Order: sequence, then structure tokens, then C-alpha cells
Amino acid sequence: MSWLNLFTRSTRIEKDPVCGMDVDAARTNLSKEYEGKRYHFCAPSCLKAFEANPGEFLSVKAEGHPADDRRGHRQAHTCD
Ligand SMILES: [Zn+2]
Repeated sequence: MSWLNLFTRSTRIEKDPVCGMDVDAARTNLSKEYEGKRYHFCAPSCLKAFEANPGEFLSVKAEGHPADDRRGHRQAHTCD
């Protein structure tokens, strides 16, 4: 009987907006609510990155890959 519970227990797969990995939202406690939606993360570092700049990760989803552009600028900039 108990094994049945494994199958009926709910899992909810969400995408980690930072790295794109699948995260089981029912099992992780790494989550953050932003603009009325809850996002889930695979690791504390992903949560931190999202908290630091949520708009960057969400705009990637909405507009294609604007972050690639910004990353290119960062690479082009050197401090020495
Ligand atoms: Zn992640």
C-alpha cells in the first residue's frame, strides 16, 4: 500500500529560470516569488543570481536572448 503513495504524491516540474534545469517544485525549498509568480531553483547560487537581477533572467525568456548581448559586452570590457 505504501508504495502507491510514491506514485500519487504530487510532483510539479518547473524550470529554473537561471540555468534552465527542471526542478521539482514540490520538493525544493529554493523558491522566490516575483511579480506574482513563484520561481524555483536547483541550487542556492541560482536563487541568489535571480534575486540579484530577476529581470535579466525573465527577459531572456520573453525576448529571445538579450542576455547574450550583455554578456558579450562584459567579455569585451577588460579592466587592465
Ligand atoms: Zn539552476
